[in-house]
Amino acid sequence: MANSAQLIIVASDGTLNADVENGVQSPDDWQPLPGALEAVARLNQAGWRVVVVTNQPGLGRGLFGVDTLHAIHTRMHRLVGEAGGRIEAVFFCPHSPTEACNCRKPRPGLALGVAERYGIPLQGVPMVGDSLEDIQAAVAAGCTPHLVLSGMAGSGAAPGGVLPAGWPEGVAVHRDLAAFADVLLAATPPPAAVS
Ligand SMILES: [Mg+2]
Ligand SMILES: [Zn+2]
Repeated sequence: MANSAQLIIVASDGTLNADVENGVQSPDDWQPLPGALEAVARLNQAGWRVVVVTNQPGLGRGLFGVDTLHAIHTRMHRLVGEAGGRIEAVFFCPHSPTEACNCRKPRPGLALGVAERYGIPLQGVPMVGDSLEDIQAAVAAGCTPHLVLSGMAGSGAAPGGVLPAGWPEGVAVHRDLAAFADVLLAATPPPAAVS
């Protein structure tokens, strides 16, 4: 049984790893952002469990196959592990934008899948991403939205920390995942141990 306070949902490109033109399509394209892997490890050490939610339209478009995506994620897990952290699970949308699925962010399906897998409500669960779509998905799923400015999508979104009109209310803005972790670890007592 998990407690909702123990989970953090994190987006990938632009949040955990660096954005690349046309998206990550091979393991070598997956390069961690500065401090991001250490941020996962620090959160883990304080009792937080980290899961990843990611749109992978390259699958739906036939740019690469599931075997390649697994190789990319194997590299991610290895690098996070070398930093002393752990990503528990990766939830991905394999559809192209034209398929009108319920899992492609800004829709809430990936986060709702996390809720179902762990048997928890999403209220109060932090969801961290670098794009408006990530934030919209977080809000739609009932998570607490956190924007990081470390990706292409969000880098210019919040000059001075203020989001433009049209963004949801109540979005916390951080420089990057390391800064998010700093704030969360300073503000929140460690969650209770998993029973
Ligand atoms: Mg992104
Ligand atoms: Zn989908």
